[in-house]
Formats: sequence, C-alpha cells, structure tokens
Amino acid sequence: MSDDGAGSPPQHPSGNGVKDDSILDRHPALLSRLVLEHAPMALVALDVHGKVTWANPSFLALLGSVKERLIGKPLTDIMRMVSWLPVPYESDAELATQQWQRIWLASEGIESSRMVLMSEMTPEPAPSGVARMLAFVDLRAGQAGEFPPFSDPHTGLASQWVFEDRLRHAIERADRHDQRLAVLLIRLDRADDVRQVYGEPVMQALLPQISRRLTSTLRSEDSIAYLGGDRWGVLIEHPVSPESLQSAALRCLEAMEAPFTLGRPPLLLTLSIGIAMFPDNGSSPEQLMESAGQALVKARPGGHAFFDQGLKRQLSQRMALRHCLQEALLCPDRHFDVVYQPQVDLENGCCVGVEALVRWRHPKQGVLQPDAFLPMVAEMAQMVRLDRWVIEQVIAQHQRWQSEGSPLAGLRISINLDASLLEQAVFDGRPLDRFLRQSSGELSWLSLEVDGKVLSEQAEVHGLLLRRLSRMGIRLAVDNLGGAPVDLIRLAMLPVSHGKIGRELVHGLADSSSFARQALSALSQCLKALQLESVMVGVETAEQLTAARHKGVDQVQGNLLGPPMAAGELATWLGRYPDLQVLSKP
Ligand code: C2E
Ligand code: CA
Repeated sequence: MSDDGAGSPPQHPSGNGVKDDSILDRHPALLSRLVLEHAPMALVALDVHGKVTWANPSFLALLGSVKERLIGKPLTDIMRMVSWLPVPYESDAELATQQWQRIWLASEGIESSRMVLMSEMTPEPAPSGVARMLAFVDLRAGQAGEFPPFSDPHTGLASQWVFEDRLRHAIERADRHDQRLAVLLIRLDRADDVRQVYGEPVMQALLPQISRRLTSTLRSEDSIAYLGGDRWGVLIEHPVSPESLQSAALRCLEAMEAPFTLGRPPLLLTLSIGIAMFPDNGSSPEQLMESAGQALVKARPGGHAFFDQGLKRQLSQRMALRHCLQEALLCPDRHFDVVYQPQVDLENGCCVGVEALVRWRHPKQGVLQPDAFLPMVAEMAQMVRLDRWVIEQVIAQHQRWQSEGSPLAGLRISINLDASLLEQAVFDGRPLDRFLRQSSGELSWLSLEVDGKVLSEQAEVHGLLLRRLSRMGIRLAVDNLGGAPVDLIRLAMLPVSHGKIGRELVHGLADSSSFARQALSALSQCLKALQLESVMVGVETAEQLTAARHKGVDQVQGNLLGPPMAAGELATWLGRYPDLQVLSKP
C-alpha cells in the first residue's frame, strides 16, 4: 500500500479498468487493495506516529477533503474525534457489537460534527508502514448541525458523552490537586433473561425506574450516567477511600432490594458493580473504564468488586478489626493498657514527667500501637470514650503512687487529648474541666497535649475552656510541632505552657542536609521567645540528644532515655536512678 494509491482506483494495465473474468488471476495483495479501495466504508491507514499513509475515496468523501491535504499529516490535525467511552462488555456476543464505537467527528472539510461508527481493524499482518487502520461508517449522512446528546432521553440521566466529558475533566482536576477519584460501572444482572421472559417493553420501563433508584441513593455531587444497554456509570470524586466506595456500592445494591412491580408479578432484580480508582487503576478515562469493566467481570451477581482485588481483602480485614475494636471499647479495662514514657530535663538530667500512651491488646495480633487503631476509633466517633478511659486510668495511677508515697507521684503526667474532648458537654453533658474537677482533687501534676494544627485552627472556639483548665493548675502542651504548619503566635495567646517538637522533625536530624537542624534551632528559639518550654520527642540516638542540647531544648523524650513502659516497669526502671536523675549533668 503506498501513498500514490490514495483516492484513485487501481487501473488495469490496458487502462480499461478491471474485467470480471481476469480478477481471479490477480495477485491476492492486489485483490485486497481493490476491495479496500472500493469498500463502501471509509478507511484510513496510519503509521506509528499517527500520520496518514493511505486513505480510500470513501474516507476522502467523508471528510470532504482531497488526498494531498491528508497524506503525511497526523490524523488528529485533520479531524477531531469526540469519542464516547467504550463501555466494557464481557461476553463475545456483546463484544461483537462493541467493536464499533460511536464517535462524534469534526474536521476542516465538514461544517459541523456528525455521528459515525468507528472501528480499528488493522489486518494481521499489517502492510509495511501501517500501524493502525481505522474504518468509519457514516451513520446518518446529512445530519449536520446536530450535537451529541447531553442526556439520555429514556432515563433522563446524563448521556455517555457527558459522562466521558465529566470524567476527563475530573481526572485533570484530580491529577492537578494530587487527589483520587473512582468510577463505578454498574450492570443489571440477567438483563437478557428479563428481555426474553418479559419482552423489550418491560425492559424499557425498568431502565428509568432503576435509574431513579440509583440517583436517589447516590449523593448529589456524585455523577451518574446511563451508558446504554444494561449499564450505568458513576463518577465519585469525594471521598475516595475503599470504605466510602464500598459503602456507595452497597447502597446501590440495597436500592434494588424492593421488587419492581410494573403492574405484573413483582420482579426481583440485582446489580453488579465494578470499581476502579484514579490514579491507581488507570490514568485516562479509557483505562479507568477498562479497569472498572475488568472489576465488573469479577463481581458476582448482586455484588461488587474492586479492580484491585487486594482492596476487598484489606477491607474485610479492616471490618474484622473494626468489629473487634468495637467490642474492646465496650470493656476497655480488659483490652487496653496505658504505658508511660519518661521525659528528662536537660538542665539537671532528672526525669520530670511521663507521657501516658495507650496500647491495645488485640486478641490475635498482640499489642497494637495507637497508629494502628486510633484513626479507626476516630472514624467510629469513639475518641471521647477511649480518652476518657485513659484519663481515668492516669488519675487512678497517680492516686496509687501518692498513697504509696512513691517518688513517681511527683512526676508530671501528660495525656494526649483528641480535639473532640474540647467540645462542650462531651462528658455526659459536662465539659472537660467539670469532668476533671469531679474526678480528682488537685491537678497541677496533669498536663494535656493537643495537636498543634488542630489547636491553632480552633484557638478561638476552645480558648475559654483552655483558660478554665489553666486556672485549675493543669498545664497545656502543643503537640507535634514541626509536622503540619501551625500559627505559633495564635497558640501563644492561649494558656499554653510548653511545645512538643514532633518525631518527624527529630528523625530528620539523621539526614545529612542541614534543614532539620535549622528548623529545630528556629523552633526552639521561637518557643523560648514565646516563653514556652520545649520538649523534643523521639530521641533515639546520642547525636539527636547532642543536637537537642546545642539547640537549647529544655526536655527530651525518646527510646534512648527510656521507652514507654507499664506503670510497674516504670517504677523499677526509675528506681535504678537515685533522685530520678537519668542523665548525668552536662
Ligand atoms: P505523640 O503524642 O507524638 O507521642 C509520642 C510518640 O512517639 C509515641 O508513639 C511514642 O512511643 C513515640 N516515641 C517516643 N520516643 C520514640 C523513639 O525514640 N523512637 C520512636 N520511633 N518513637 C518514639 P505511640 O505511643 O505509638 O503514639 C503515637 C501517637 O498516638 C501519639 O503521638 C499520640 O498522638 C497518639 N496517642 C497515643 N496515646 C494516645 C491517647 O491515649 N489518646 C490520644 N488521643 N492519642 C494518643
Ligand atoms: Ca503527645
């Protein structure tokens, strides 16, 4: 196949055209070329760069162009294709109809866009220089001036074309903001059986009903479209976590539970749903739809599946963990422990306080650190329950040390507080200060640590409560400085007594770059200038300890000095140091 063939039918050597009786004597390659040249459908061959190497007369007619304007040019410069996303189908029969894709086509030669069918039909083996061959069938010649439909007239939902457009824009947005999004591809199960048993009119009546149920199930910001046949597409932009997608899918499946009546015996229908996420399962609309289609193949009728099958396993593990956590929170004494990590003053080397940290004794997985379960406790809105239990344990422990006459009773004890505990009336109608007053006597030994970012964002809201706590002698610490950005000046207007320099920044000290050192120096000077004590957390190495000393940090906490310990172990550990002096004086 060569350029010079474009648009001109091949001539018989005699110049009289090809005679029927001689056609069978021709070389097979020539015969194929004849067929292609005279095919009623428009054909165009492209090289690996997408440039046109050959086109038949029907293609030139479709575009209203001449071969000189096409050959050697990228097809995308010549025509614009607004494609409707190919909706993935599973069975061969479905596939056969899907090889032809409906697209809207616009080019220089034609005045307005029109709908055509397009298929990729590159022969095997392809002629040399041909990477792709595209075939077009003009669906309704002369329908100039029409636009792709925005909505599906039958279901009233957005059309496939609109869905593709929304998906494309959403992907661009998500890509720019480093966010995720997801596509749910929904299929009506046994649609062919319904058609056969009840007929097409019933099917047509069902489609808008199913569409209505789906629409009322999803949130208004989710985008749903009818993709034709027995398929719907849903675009979810926020929130996109495996849990939220699973619950959206389950809501869609539940929406089908009530029977469809349609004036005949009730009909029970189910859906199956395939879920794919951007960017994990595809970076373009086509790839995402393809992945959602593959997930759909894995979904059982009335069920859902993620493209990434590991996610469903992870989700069921999380569900099991959640269930277990729920039970643990009902009887915290049996399942949780409080451990205490020493805090050492760098001026005199003495242990001056401890931080109380919660641990969960999981029945199968052993002792779990807070990072493994606190986010889930927060999701379950149970932080108040857990932190209230920790506060009660710490108060009881302090009272035990006091009644035993232990030197540990002189230690300051810090408790981490989730910001939800600062809300009004969280303790059975009481605010935190009333709850503490009624739980214990003198509280000057108590320190409360609240995340710096949350505290600086909610400084005005909680200012009053924090002042009341401060008047009770309770000290307030800004936790995790050096991680997320905080407004230190705003924080200093609160009755805060010290700032905790977080592990993130401290671990950065191991890097050869001087950034972490400069940041540590700036932070500790800043805290000093605001007359706040500084406590550096996560000190694991002698270098980090030296850096803390050089940068003027007041106190340190970390595994190098002492790991978090149960109350009994802490007593034994500290008993080794006369006068609680853990470090020798510098
Ligand atoms: P945090 O407030 O920054 O607590 C200090 C964390 O640093 C603790 O982690 C502690 O074990 C860890 N750490 C201290 N020194 C070292 C060290 O040298 N190396 C390393 N790698 N880690 C060190 P933990 O106990 O896992 O707690 C994690 C976070 O969970 C805490 O961070 C705190 O934000 C939260 N948390 C812990 N207990 C509670 C609680 O009872 N209530 C609330 N609301 N949050 C808690
Ligand atoms: Ca803390």
